[in-house]
Amino acid sequence: MKILLNNIDLNEALFGNSNIGFVPTMGSLHDGHISLIKKSLKLCNKTIVSIYVNPKQFNNKDDYKKYPRSIKKDLKILKKLKVDFVYLPKTKDIYKARDKIKIKLKKKDKILCAKYRKGHFEGVIEVMTRLTKIVKPSKIFMGEKDLQQLLLVKRFVEKNFKSKIIYCKTIRDKNKLALSSRNILLNKNSLNKAGKIAKNLIIFKKKLLKKKNLKDLILIKKRELKKKYDIKIDYLEFRNTKNLKLTNKFKNARIFIAYYINKVRLIDNF
Ligand code: AMP
Repeated sequence: MKILLNNIDLNEALFGNSNIGFVPTMGSLHDGHISLIKKSLKLCNKTIVSIYVNPKQFNNKDDYKKYPRSIKKDLKILKKLKVDFVYLPKTKDIYKARDKIKIKLKKKDKILCAKYRKGHFEGVIEVMTRLTKIVKPSKIFMGEKDLQQLLLVKRFVEKNFKSKIIYCKTIRDKNKLALSSRNILLNKNSLNKAGKIAKNLIIFKKKLLKKKNLKDLILIKKRELKKKYDIKIDYLEFRNTKNLKLTNKFKNARIFIAYYINKVRLIDNF
């Protein structure tokens, strides 16, 4: 496994390689990230994993500072997986002063997390555009846990580059809680609660199959979760998985949730 600390290292290492698989991450690796990496190792000639906590996508400075970091442990995991390259860029490798990129979301995109985290996706799309330009991968592996992110990045990146976005399933713990680097910030009680919320929504989704008044049922569920688990919910909505439009139809639709538990913001979809 080669560790690439700057773009000169990276260009040298990737030169002459084809079918490169790229797994962009912010580190604090868990089994969710590992599933993306394993898929890349299986489908691509070379796999490159990046670890970079992108300041531009944090709409809150404190959240950026608090974001968990564990580079030593991450490198051990990546070595064991036999990843070909790890890219650990500095901000100056990614954001060049002369190279300006301005991302503008359409009005129809300003839903779900885009509505509640102003500037977040502009930051994600910008860093993904810059990383794709630098790495030039054939395939980019992204998780369905962050489906809104995946769809936006897919639209912007596939329009401007040859790279294809590969969907990867959400990995959950034994309590059905989606793995997330932020879970480290939760105490045992909150972890338990978050697991119960996930299970509750998995069962609820199954019950929606033959129902007609989905909108009302979602609203009732939102009130129930708030009261039962004492959480602040940004959104609980039923949307189509391709265009993220609100829908009343069960087919190709998921429940999307973002909520705060002990000041930690979690998102998921079912
Ligand atoms: P992050 O390090 O949180 O920016 O995530 C890097 C990539 O891993 C993104 O494409 C995420 O969607 C994906 N990811 C994070 N958690 C999970 C999970 N539990 N299952 C599958 N993919 C995930």
